Amino acid sequence: MRTRTGPFFVALAAAILLCAAATASPQSGGFRFEAQDTAGTRWFKGNTHTHTLESDGDASPEEVAAWYRDNGYNFLVLSDHNVLTDPARLADMFTDDFILIPGEEVTSSFERRPVHINGININALVVPQTADTMVGTIQRNIDAIREVEGAPHINHPNFGWAYGAEELAQVQDDRLLEIYNGHPAVNNDGGGDSPGMEAVWDYLLTRGKRIYGIAVDDAHHFKTIGRNLANPGRGWVTVRAADLDPVSIVAGLESGAFYASTGVELDDVVVRGRRIEVHIRQQGSFKYVTQFIGAGGRMLLETGANPAVFELNGPEVYVRAVVRDSGGWRAWVQPVFVVTN
Ligand SMILES: [Zn+2]
Ligand SMILES: [Zn+2]
Repeated sequence: MRTRTGPFFVALAAAILLCAAATASPQSGGFRFEAQDTAGTRWFKGNTHTHTLESDGDASPEEVAAWYRDNGYNFLVLSDHNVLTDPARLADMFTDDFILIPGEEVTSSFERRPVHINGININALVVPQTADTMVGTIQRNIDAIREVEGAPHINHPNFGWAYGAEELAQVQDDRLLEIYNGHPAVNNDGGGDSPGMEAVWDYLLTRGKRIYGIAVDDAHHFKTIGRNLANPGRGWVTVRAADLDPVSIVAGLESGAFYASTGVELDDVVVRGRRIEVHIRQQGSFKYVTQFIGAGGRMLLETGANPAVFELNGPEVYVRAVVRDSGGWRAWVQPVFVVTN
């Protein structure tokens, strides 16, 4: 882990060169963004990572669910460490606009480095797994979550500087990676010789791994507010789905039909042919800047327009977008992959 910077940037540079080579080659046929079927869908806001008194949180499941329900969220995953709270126990918290999705933070480790993988919409408790390598440990927990029909999401790899891009490139059957976690101790942005989560994400995407970036609270503290505490409301996802039910929401997440946010809200993301439009919801007097990013983390376009529009001119691997407002809050639009006609 301590030495991964060298190979990380060498691999990133190699990937950029590969893309440059692809761009330089004669264009054989057309290329466009993968089509997205959005008919009959709506947007639902939710948080997939939160703790309660069932593990190391400071509030009961009822109090935690009430916080999210009363603050405009449509769904919530209670993800206590190695505890599954049956949402049926909280059935009277449900409304037409708010549901709970079963979950657990499957909490393991390898050589004292934390391996925390959330299982969402699991149908049974997952026993944390270990193996004789870090990659094997991550994979076994992913497999155990899939075994009970759950969707795994990789939590805070930089917490304890546990593992990074090279390990994540080797694991399979995972679609979701925390690129922002609201807990103050998880090192989202990296530092020193360790890449931040967005750079890790671009590394994986550039290698062709289909993985989407989520923002979560990892909230533990509902009774006291402080910058060194893990309070709710810091990171969330807004998912496009036909219905507000666990299967539709998880399907939306695993197909990248969502954006992640720390504060910026979007009215729509329209992908058609070679064009991406990001329609930003104006809040207060904020100004906005949108960056469109391609393979290797290259910035393809920066614009202050709303909607922010990107037109594909070459055979990119993927294009994603980050919207920043003038207050520093962000929204991450999921990567859209490029296909040839
Ligand atoms: Zn954790
Ligand atoms: Zn957690």
